[in-house]
Amino acid sequence: MANNMYAYKCTGCGELHHPKHYVCRKCGAREFEEILLEGEVTLVTYTKVYNLPEGYMKPYLAFGIVKFKNGLTVSGQIDAEVLSIGMKLIPTVGVIKEGIGKDYYGFIFKPLA
Ligand SMILES: [Zn+2]
Repeated sequence: MANNMYAYKCTGCGELHHPKHYVCRKCGAREFEEILLEGEVTLVTYTKVYNLPEGYMKPYLAFGIVKFKNGLTVSGQIDAEVLSIGMKLIPTVGVIKEGIGKDYYGFIFKPLA
């Protein structure tokens, strides 16, 4: 994988942040340690976005919030045929499309193989 995603762990209190914060939302410290985000995640909630811009080969894109084993929750695109709350997914990193001219790298969660 070309791109890895990290959580930012406060060296003061251990609170995990993602995306990166410059000041800990819990204790106000400014020092963080990078923690590689990997492994299975659990789908917490999701939403389907229809009416995609021209050029998409899919009827909709799914976006969701997932929880890592370390307790961190993050949002990302979900690339799965069937979606259900509580399902296990694997994080990958790719170009997320949320609209024309707004591509950026982010999480794309896929079902376990
Ligand atoms: Zn802190």
